[in-house]
Amino acid sequence: MDTVKSALQAVQARIATAIQAAGREPGCVELLAVSKTFPAAAVAAAANAGQRAFGESYVQEALPKLAALRDLSLTWHFIGPLQRNKTQAVAQHFDWVHSVDRLIIAQRLNDARPASMPPLNICLQVNISEETSKSGVTPAGLSALAHAVAALPRLRLRGLMAIPRGGVDTATQHAQFARLRALQTELITLDMPLDTLSMGMSDDLEIAIAEGATLVRVGSALFGTRPIPTH
Ligand SMILES: *Cc1c(COP(=O)(O)O)cnc(C)c1O
Repeated sequence: MDTVKSALQAVQARIATAIQAAGREPGCVELLAVSKTFPAAAVAAAANAGQRAFGESYVQEALPKLAALRDLSLTWHFIGPLQRNKTQAVAQHFDWVHSVDRLIIAQRLNDARPASMPPLNICLQVNISEETSKSGVTPAGLSALAHAVAALPRLRLRGLMAIPRGGVDTATQHAQFARLRALQTELITLDMPLDTLSMGMSDDLEIAIAEGATLVRVGSALFGTRPIPTH
């Protein structure tokens, strides 16, 4: 599993270079290793090389992996589309959820979060390119959702997440990430102490970091090409 270690070092170097190019503080961007579709052994190899935060998109696939790796005290982020019938498992087993885009999901996570655990960290997923096919709250609906989620005691609203439209030119990539950042700034102005901008993946993390990302979600650059999902 030396390949995971060298891939991890390469991604860390890309992040450090992008931070420096943007004139930002060293260490201001967290790497989330997206391990969906990859086995627990790949996660263990990355953990062994020092990686602590991992992202999963499918509840059924994630639960046995989390159980197998329980002793490693890793931080688990749920980043996939979240259906009502999966909220309980996510609230019981994850540390973060990046994909909250409606109040009913937030309420169910809040109600299911065990009292023995710290509040569940939440990012609201925003449909910044306003594609009708995409998940995410619209920019127009964001402020109301953020206020409602911030009032839920078992959740801790941390920031915003987006998956921008692909296949666009570099200027548009920058503009999409800048849009998410502007929305975060707006909410901060409204007295919401958001500290997380979850944006940027294997192919565009440099652009996301230039536009203010504090957390990049990286899968294929660490673990290799994923099989076509069958979910
Ligand atoms: C799979 C996934 C990623 C990782 O994408 P890569 O291109 O493999 O880095 C990031 N974010 C979300 C929400 C994902 O589903």
